[in-house]
Amino acid sequence: MINVAIDGPAGAGKSTIARAAAKELGFIYVDTGALYRAVGVYCLRNEIETTDAECVGAVLDKINVELKFIDGVQHVYLNGDDVSTEIRLPESSMAASNVSAIPSVRAFLFDLQRDIAAKNNCIMDGRDIGTVVLPNAKVKIFLTADPEERAMRRYLELKEKGSTVSYDEVLEDLKVRDYNDSHREIAPLKPAEDSVTHNTTGKTLDESIKMIINTIKEKM
Ligand code: C5P
Repeated sequence: MINVAIDGPAGAGKSTIARAAAKELGFIYVDTGALYRAVGVYCLRNEIETTDAECVGAVLDKINVELKFIDGVQHVYLNGDDVSTEIRLPESSMAASNVSAIPSVRAFLFDLQRDIAAKNNCIMDGRDIGTVVLPNAKVKIFLTADPEERAMRRYLELKEKGSTVSYDEVLEDLKVRDYNDSHREIAPLKPAEDSVTHNTTGKTLDESIKMIINTIKEKM
């Protein structure tokens, strides 16, 4: 199977770009952030403190997370419920960032990610795909952009969905998540040594998509 790993901070454009590239190549697109978000949603629903490793670790055996691909679109299920919309709420983002720093949560989601990659040609995006989950991925890309631009993209996306959150709140949230993701002890966000870094600041989506597809095709 051919595996492409795309890592990078929140709002760098990973999901939109990876989805478009996967479509062009006929691969499935796997958004691993959705898995951490689903665990976060379970904790929010059950009032479990997402920063408390012991409490979160203790409920993992009550959580079943599944990914299904319907017409090429990923759906995430939490104990049988399709939570694909709920996982996108801003509170779910922060909950995901918190639980993702807990080693038992990362171990819990590891096999699921490896299994999908073993069975499918896929583009998988996340924070540790090239470094930890798929160290042998054929292509590894690290996608980044300036925080202000990433926050603006996220802000416009949320506004479109009817959210009243302000740009400053989005920027602050994003900076906290960036810090958490790159400073945690386990699987911190960093480029894999053999990755190609692309910075999408000032680039249109189309330009970024073309750039990534070219890199993937060259490396394949
Ligand atoms: O990519 P997305 O923003 O949906 O990810 C939500 C959170 O899940 C991130 O802030 C990050 O903390 C965590 N995550 C992770 N490892 C991955 C994917 C996401 O730690 N492979």
